[in-house]
Amino acid sequence: MKWPAWLKLARPGKPLPPVSPTGCPTCGREMIFVEKFTMMGDDRRTYRCNGCRKEHIVDFGTAMWKLMSDANNLAIADYRAALKINPDDQSAKVGLKRLGLDQ
Ligand SMILES: [Zn+2]
Repeated sequence: MKWPAWLKLARPGKPLPPVSPTGCPTCGREMIFVEKFTMMGDDRRTYRCNGCRKEHIVDFGTAMWKLMSDANNLAIADYRAALKINPDDQSAKVGLKRLGLDQ
């Protein structure tokens, strides 16, 4: 396993801190969650490190609600296309109903 470079800063003899996305990029300490903002479809969270008293923004990538809504939109388009070919397609009807749509 390849350790991030900042782990070398840990004192020898001390157990290595767990590799965590919420570890401080400067000192490796686990940071405290401050706030989360996902307005742009990205899941970014602000964490504060008690070691160096700095705030760091951790990017968790695409926000979960964005992934879900993209997946739903794809599914809806698929079901609608299937119904266009075969208006009696039961699995497409059930799928749309599950997503809260009639057709
Ligand atoms: Zn720190």
